[in-house]
Parts: sequence; structure tokens; C-alpha cells
Amino acid sequence: METKKKDIRALTREQLRDFFVQNEDKAFRGNQVYEWLWQKSAHSFEVMTNLSKETREMLEANFVINHIKVDVMQRSTDGTIKNAVRLHDDLVVESVLIPTNTRTTACVSSQVGCSLDCKFCATSRLKRMRNLNPDEIYDQVVAIDNESRLYFDRPLSNIVFMGMGEPLMNYNNVLKAIDKITSKEGLGMSPKRITVSTSGVPKMIRKMADDQVKFNLAVSLHSAIDTIRTSIMPFNATFTLVDLREALAYWYSKTKSRITYEYVVWKDINDTQKDVDALVDFCRFAPSKVNLIEYNPIDDGEFQQASNKAIDMYVNTLERSRIVVTVRRSRGKDIDAACGQLANKA
Ligand code: SAH
Repeated sequence: METKKKDIRALTREQLRDFFVQNEDKAFRGNQVYEWLWQKSAHSFEVMTNLSKETREMLEANFVINHIKVDVMQRSTDGTIKNAVRLHDDLVVESVLIPTNTRTTACVSSQVGCSLDCKFCATSRLKRMRNLNPDEIYDQVVAIDNESRLYFDRPLSNIVFMGMGEPLMNYNNVLKAIDKITSKEGLGMSPKRITVSTSGVPKMIRKMADDQVKFNLAVSLHSAIDTIRTSIMPFNATFTLVDLREALAYWYSKTKSRITYEYVVWKDINDTQKDVDALVDFCRFAPSKVNLIEYNPIDDGEFQQASNKAIDMYVNTLERSRIVVTVRRSRGKDIDAACGQLANKA
């Protein structure tokens, strides 16, 4: 019976070095292979041309490289690119490249599907199949970095964990991926250019604070009134706003790092003065920024973008309360690449 080959990228540099020593070779071969895997993003052992044929065959016999594969790439009229990414077990996730004049942002997935049940999000209709492993997250970033160099002549500048899944429900793997993205051996990116977006898992926000992570935190709030938030984000019944706020206050006390809130204003759901007043109240405990995101319809018409008048009311009230506010227009809508539209439709 054939034993299952191990994923070589699950090995640390040290483990790779040990492997070669155990196989009566030099430890530095481990470094060479590590470089191929992580700096040169090798998809096969064949390309590792500074290793002898025997060594490559020996690796082939022992390991696999579970690299992701970009199956379909779609380009929007506004320049946004969406990748349908096939994993080694044939599951598919999506990631998006969002270009502006000055930046290229990668929006990456952390899980296949999602276990949360936000009523306005297309991904919530796919059930959670599994967590992505650190390499699968890292590979999405590398694929987008390559596309950015190819199509926009510049490297990737920012990363947001706003694709499929809830990153804080796959915390360890997300952290490992970020370690690689920020390490010199990986992409050497600054953690200040990375934002993890969460629907708000209080226990994990506290953990992030204790871990003293250096990346940015964004919270998908959408309402600061429990009854309303629970009606559109049912898990809010378990992770209530009081718990969320306490966890965020803890985060701020530990990290002194500003909190960003993502917020969609919907017609007849959260478009009154009372809603914005509750938001102002909620944010007061720490320096905050509110991103008002445009709603991307996901079919059934239950949710509709609020009027410009309602958006203006939000902007004016927040500004008067000295809370930083931006109004963010959606990108890539024509290819279902915008926030909340990722549902493996291509
Ligand atoms: N689970 C994480 C990250 C994925 S969602 C989170 O909840 O933050 C990324 C962002 O898109 C979140 O702010 C989410 O609330 C928002 N979003 C989801 N569906 C949307 C839609 N249809 N239109 C606009 N934004 C949406």
C-alpha cells in the first residue's frame, strides 16, 4: 500500500535541514529547497535546478507540493481581477486584486465557505467546508503579487482578509500566513499594510491583543443596536455588542491601534438618525474610523442600498462627532468580485 506523501511546505526550514541530514546529505540542501518553496514559489521539484536529479527524485518520492492553482482569472472593466483558486483537494476559493492609482490591494480568503450566517453576504450561502492552511493563504497573496507586477508594473502594496470566511475562526493559520508574508524569507511586507476583517469574535479579539499582533483590525459592525444586528448577523445573539465592545476596548488598551468599522447602510434597516447615534456611542471608547461600504446586491432584494440622503446623514453626524469616516465605492461588481459577492459563481 502506498503511504500518503507529506506536504513538504508544512515543514520548517529546520525540519527540512534535518531531513537531508537523516538522508545522508548536507543540511544546506534544506536551505536550498526552502528557498525554492518560499522565495521562488516552486510548484514542482523538477524546477529546482540546483539540486541533482537524484535529489529531486528522492524528494518526489517522499513529498508533494500542495500548491494552489489559479483556475480562472476574470478582469473587470475597472481593472479589478478575480482569481478562482483551486486547492489540492479540488475545493475552490476566490481572491481579488483591487488596483487604485497608488496601491494594489489583495483581498484574500481564509476559509472555504463560511460558518457565519450574515444575511446580506453571498459567501454565507456556501457552508463552511474547511479552514485554509497557511500556505493556501500565502499562495493567494503571491499569485496576486505576480499579477500586480504583470498587469500594473508594481508589487502588491496592501492585503485585506475580506475574502471568503471568518479569519478569526481560523486564527492560527491566518497568523502563520501573516508571519510568512511579513518575514524576509517570504514577501517582507510590513504588517501595517495588512488588515484582518472580522465579524467580531470577542474571545479572538482579546487573543490578538494578547499576542500583540502588528496588523490592523477591521470590524464588520453594520449596526450598533443589538436587535438590528442580530436580525442581519444572527451570531450577534451569542457574541453581543457589549461583549464585542469590551473586547475591542481591551484590544485598544493593549495595542493603542485604531479600530476600523465596516458598515453598510441599508434602506429601512439602519438608515435613521437613531442608528447613527448608536454607532457614534459605540465607537467613542477608542480612536475609530468608519468605512461606509456600498451594498453589493446578492440577488433576492431583501437588502437595498440606502439613499444618498441617509449616507450624508451618517457622514455629517460622524464628522461632527470627530470620527473619521470614508465612503467606499465598490470595485469589480461586474465580475461578482466586490465585498460579499464571493460565492464561486464563475
Ligand atoms: N468574515 C469577515 C471577512 C469577510 S466579509 C468579516 O465579516 O469581516 C468582508 C466585508 O464585506 C465585511 O465587512 C462584510 O460585512 C462585507 N459584506 C458582506 N456582504 C456584503 C455585501 N453584499 N455588500 C457589501 N459588503 C458586504
